[in-house]
Amino acid sequence: MDIELLYLNGTFMPLAEGRVHVEDRGFQLGDGVYEVIKVMNGSLVWLEDHLARLDRNLAEVGLSAATCGHDLSEVLPRLVDRSGVGHGSVYVQVTRGCAPRDFVFPRPAHPTVLGYARSKPAPTVEEIMTGTVLHPVADLRWARCDIKSTNLLAAVLAKEEARNAGADEALFMAPDGTVREGGSSNVFAFLEGIIRTHPLDNRILGGITRRHVLEMARREGYLVEERAFTLDEVFAVSGPCEVFTASTTKDLLPVVRIGPQVVGDGRPGKVTLTLLDRLRREQALLVGLEPPPALT
Ligand code: PMP
Repeated sequence: MDIELLYLNGTFMPLAEGRVHVEDRGFQLGDGVYEVIKVMNGSLVWLEDHLARLDRNLAEVGLSAATCGHDLSEVLPRLVDRSGVGHGSVYVQVTRGCAPRDFVFPRPAHPTVLGYARSKPAPTVEEIMTGTVLHPVADLRWARCDIKSTNLLAAVLAKEEARNAGADEALFMAPDGTVREGGSSNVFAFLEGIIRTHPLDNRILGGITRRHVLEMARREGYLVEERAFTLDEVFAVSGPCEVFTASTTKDLLPVVRIGPQVVGDGRPGKVTLTLLDRLRREQALLVGLEPPPALT
């Protein structure tokens, strides 16, 4: 049985006993950043990558020193260990802390730093092979989507709209018809023999999974381009076409439908499953597990 344990500002406590002040700027202003890190076999996967992104994000919002005194590379493994979580994720959040409500930064700030682990099974083979459905929405988020900010209202509304439309994930579209990313995932396409995804800029989050997928794909000898694609391209292509999402908690998921339109032949594609096999194998080796049976 897991223990729902919280690390809050230097103290471990039961999650249900964690208290944050009403005037915490994370609560009132969304003034904070966060990370979600995968746990497998009790180990944190690609922890250094996530902590590096957290540091970069903190610097981008003027909170560089916020995690001083919290050695997260030591605290988070301890949190997972004490929580007894085998497979799931760790949520980490850092806010500008509690201060009388005002937009400008409090000086000095007393940041809130917290983390907790929760069990959640990885997508099953059946879920993977069923595939996922995307629902295109206008991207109404702010112009710094590269920062993993706790301001998630636009994503909350988009993902709720997707669910009400019978889809699994929202697909953020630019006004010119290019695909940016999912509500909480990066999105790739395999089009005319090339694996493509939106380039890193302020319009998307630089996903950790995205980065590893690009590395794996290049290592496997695929042609890879960080160049945005449109849905017109996806549906006009005459040869094989695949689309997949990439995220920490769901790895890669084959996209079988976008809105009313079926992608390719409506089944998980070979390139997607090959890359997912590589990712599952790499992560298993990293955490000391036997590689899972191949999907392809
Ligand atoms: N884009 C957005 C908007 C996200 O919220 C996420 C998940 N945090 C991702 C992409 C995927 O990033 P990662 O692979 O680091 O989980």
